[in-house]
Amino acid sequence: MKFTSTRGIAPPVGFSDALAAGLAPDGGLYVPAALPALAAGDFADGQSFAACASHLLAPFLAGDPLEKALPAICAEAFDFPVPLRPIGAGGDLVLELFRGPTAAFKDVGARFLAGCLARLQRDQARPLTILVATSGDTGAAVAAAFHRRPGLRVVVLHPRGRVSPRQAHQLGCFGDNVASLAVEGSFDDCQALVKQALGDAQLQQSLPMSSANSISLGRLLPQMSYYAHAALAHRARHDEFLNFVIPTGNLGNAMAAMLARACGLPIGRIAMATNANPVLGEFFAGGDYAARASVATLANAMDVGAPSNFERLRWLFPQDALLRSSFEAAAIGDDQIRETIKLAWARHGEALCPHTATAFAMLPALHARHGGCWAVVATAHPAKFEGIVEPLIGQPVEVPPALAELLGRPSRHEAMPAEYPALRRWLLQ
Ligand SMILES: *Cc1c(COP(=O)(O)O)cnc(C)c1O
Repeated sequence: MKFTSTRGIAPPVGFSDALAAGLAPDGGLYVPAALPALAAGDFADGQSFAACASHLLAPFLAGDPLEKALPAICAEAFDFPVPLRPIGAGGDLVLELFRGPTAAFKDVGARFLAGCLARLQRDQARPLTILVATSGDTGAAVAAAFHRRPGLRVVVLHPRGRVSPRQAHQLGCFGDNVASLAVEGSFDDCQALVKQALGDAQLQQSLPMSSANSISLGRLLPQMSYYAHAALAHRARHDEFLNFVIPTGNLGNAMAAMLARACGLPIGRIAMATNANPVLGEFFAGGDYAARASVATLANAMDVGAPSNFERLRWLFPQDALLRSSFEAAAIGDDQIRETIKLAWARHGEALCPHTATAFAMLPALHARHGGCWAVVATAHPAKFEGIVEPLIGQPVEVPPALAELLGRPSRHEAMPAEYPALRRWLLQ
């Protein structure tokens, strides 16, 4: 399988080369040159998440240096469950993607990417530095996935004071080959610093660097696996397609669902819930795509004003009319997030994280419009956002064991001004 650029100028490359490059040299995003046709019957009944992932991803890695290692990479990365279970009595479901080590769905992509890069990076004398800017969850997932991997080093930049206290603790609790920088600035400042470092050819010579942001194919493709696993299980049980409503920021998670559906998996409708950042809602309501600066919300991992995977959406559906009719999106404000967290608790005894709450909030409209059985994609455990969730439900949220273990470790950050020369000096020291 080859991967081409959404802008169509850069030459096609294999999976490993696309991983190493990150962005295509023409500035576009890598996409599969062709989508494999996968039928439900190709998958063994009751397959584990890891086995399902390995089967699904095999065509994408065909002919690549990583092809033979794929089953091992999947077995190692996907050693936690992704339960699909009922929520309430109305027939709806929740797909829990937060059972990994850092209690957010980004563990899936980060662990797969780490497994790939660890096998490609054999030069331990010259470690590869992975730079990540995070608004909360990405940094922790990447840090956990790369912790103590030989030949790899991680530097995570977060905006000081603008991530939840437990998110901040997670970022600083690894140590060893993981450094956490608390930047005096915004998430956009962090992202600009990372971009500048990655584009610094002179620095790159003395310090090989790569990124792990949400445009990486190594994060995007494995996320198809949980949609496949859930939809196949649902089809086996009820002989129908499963609809998904997905909390959405940079569109990595939703894009994976769209790819899985395009490959022929039994997925029905796909709806995207955003927070108050309105870019996708406006577009799917028929407006222009108008990227802008993000606004801060309770669902901070979705505070995105210019979704980085939008270009892939346009590649998959070059005609806006068809794109708009194939999906839907709605913006859910902070008040509605709070109301939904209260309601899900009162009605179903479910504690939702603020991100998952945006998807849950769309359910009544989706039922009214389409009917059918919907799976709410739960992207983080509520215990990561206890400062928001606990006052609303009036009681403590139980902390899952993996998260409790991380929170029990000491945590340490280094302060960093939002100025590139300071970061450059620090990286070289
Ligand atoms: C990153 C994140 C999202 C948004 O996912 P995208 O792939 O950027 O759309 C939603 N919820 C949580 C908890 C996240 O960490």
